[in-house]
Amino acid sequence: MLAELAPHHIRAIAPYQPGKPIGELARELGLDPATIVKLASNENPLGIGPKARAAVERELAELARYPDGSGYELKAKIARKFGVGEAQIVLGNGSNDVLDLIARTFLTAGDSSVYSQYAFAVYPLAVQAMGAEGIAVRAVDYGHDLEAMRAAIRPDTKIVWIANPNNPTGTLARPGDLIEFLELCPAHVLVVLDEAYTEYLPREKRSDSIAWLRQFPNLIVVRTFSKAYGLAGLRVGMALASPEVADLLNRLRQPFNVNSLAQAAACAALDDDAFLAESVRVNLAGMAQLTAAFQRMGLSFIQSYGNFVTFHCGDAGLLNRFMLERGVIVRPLAGYGLPNSLRVSIGLPEENARFIAVLEEAMDD
Ligand SMILES: *Cc1c(COP(=O)(O)O)cnc(C)c1O
Repeated sequence: MLAELAPHHIRAIAPYQPGKPIGELARELGLDPATIVKLASNENPLGIGPKARAAVERELAELARYPDGSGYELKAKIARKFGVGEAQIVLGNGSNDVLDLIARTFLTAGDSSVYSQYAFAVYPLAVQAMGAEGIAVRAVDYGHDLEAMRAAIRPDTKIVWIANPNNPTGTLARPGDLIEFLELCPAHVLVVLDEAYTEYLPREKRSDSIAWLRQFPNLIVVRTFSKAYGLAGLRVGMALASPEVADLLNRLRQPFNVNSLAQAAACAALDDDAFLAESVRVNLAGMAQLTAAFQRMGLSFIQSYGNFVTFHCGDAGLLNRFMLERGVIVRPLAGYGLPNSLRVSIGLPEENARFIAVLEEAMDD
């Protein structure tokens, strides 16, 4: 009855399925949380970095005060590090907040928005929440078909979303193809380039996307502190855009959307190059460990440029259950239309080994 108070497009939203929290599995199966390995949400297996942790500890004493609503210090740091103006920065409570903010700022009923099949689930959710129409463009080899996405742009299209690398498939678009897309995209259509995993890329694969902002005022680059920077639990992300676009986004932003611990930690994380380098090193080694195991077992997988791999395994629901019962949490992808695939995040060597051992057990079963 009360549900009918909500507009139809809100009632039609299917809830986002996050990775199962460790505590929840422990309660469900009566397992000791300390024995559970969670490789389901692409978190940094090294945990929070030492500089960020020290900053959080220092900031604890100030928790009775509101955070700096303008994010002055963090924005100053981001501006210096990435070579943008402070007026180009929008801070978010995680980059999900920023993605939602973009949809809320620009979309309304009657608009459309383009994304790829298998692209990050938050885009269709954010679009649908505004009563706008989502246009999902068929993927090629699990990745974005940029030409088809451009062809799918209609007169009522306001935003195109591109995840690069994409989650959950791990695919990567080439910088040259992205530039071509931006050049051919109508100037009045916003292009959101979500680069949550860009820190993991080798330099030669990385897009110089922030430099592109000067040439393309319709480009919005979205970054996060949740992955390689190791701060998923604190929730910090950002959009870098033209001052005109950033100003609009900032008007809709909740003034205290990034809490003070998160601001302090993000500032410190930007200074911790050693931790970032170690995160990338651990990821590369773990990727090699996992993909070698898949090859050994004859399981096909999608080559990934992120901190996770999606592999094909027959009935993924069944395998997922098998793994959960043995305390290993990975990510089912049925909601993405991939019922025969699972996504595993790259963990520490011993976590990866645990996952591999349970997978081998399942294959022998
Ligand atoms: C993990 C991820 C994010 C980051 O989300 P936060 O809200 O910043 O934690 C954004 N985009 C993609 C594609 C992701 O996979």
